[in-house]
Amino acid sequence: MHTVELAPGWVWLVGAGPGDPGLLTLHALSALEQADVVVHDALVDTRILDMVKPGVELINVGKRGWKCSPKQSDICDLLVDLAKQNKRVVRLKGGDPFVFGRGGEEAQALVQNEVPFRVVPGITAGIGGLAYAGIPLTTRETNDSVVFITGHDQTGGMSTRVKWEELARTVPVLVIYMPMKSLGRIAEKMIAGGRSPSESCAIVSRASTPHQRVLVTTLERAAADAAESDLPAPSLFVVGPNVDYRCWTNWYPGNRSPRLSPLTANTAE
Ligand code: SAH
Repeated sequence: MHTVELAPGWVWLVGAGPGDPGLLTLHALSALEQADVVVHDALVDTRILDMVKPGVELINVGKRGWKCSPKQSDICDLLVDLAKQNKRVVRLKGGDPFVFGRGGEEAQALVQNEVPFRVVPGITAGIGGLAYAGIPLTTRETNDSVVFITGHDQTGGMSTRVKWEELARTVPVLVIYMPMKSLGRIAEKMIAGGRSPSESCAIVSRASTPHQRVLVTTLERAAADAAESDLPAPSLFVVGPNVDYRCWTNWYPGNRSPRLSPLTANTAE
């Protein structure tokens, strides 16, 4: 295996992918093998944490893991402290560290404190998770562009910087991270921006894990169907014509529906 040395006093910001350990990169695997300490989020799959060697310190900085409500600055300080103790530090994050993952803020803190670091990209949920849900992000038939959006910003509310109606008008496929608190309002804004109330959309819950669930619905029904289904976090919301393509591309054996022929497939699970 092509191994880069994780040297003492370094921090690697490593993406763990959406869940399935098979989606780790070789660099991520090698990071886990070399680490003295792994600082991880709640989102990292337990099957990946189980791969960490006995004796390696595991610190969960997810909510309720380490402090009652860890602040980002506490996590940055912890990383700097561990590196200054000359440890080989892996900061393990769900998906990709630089996609809605605050990896940028942590890298900035490391630079400011003269801690050397490396970034190991991971497969982000909006790509890998969607693929496991059997939804192609693009097809030539359905869309030439796609946008990744966060459903809420630093304040915890729906981001005011996102021009939902404008995006609804101009982008065929929207993949929304952290969507659940604002699902109804997001769907309303899509419709106000000109999308058909009957347009297909999907909520993908716990993608690429044994608990993966996919709810295919329409914009006007999304909030009600989501409330009824009570899908566990984390979930993605995807809106666009590529969702209908799933009748052809729903491959994941963990998906509940049997593999039906595309002509008869029922996409509601
Ligand atoms: N850095 C991560 C995103 C962190 S934000 C990445 O690149 O994937 C957290 C959000 O990511 C969740 O609220 C959810 O919208 C999405 N997410 C992460 N893992 C997921 C999974 N396995 N299934 C569905 N959504 C997921």
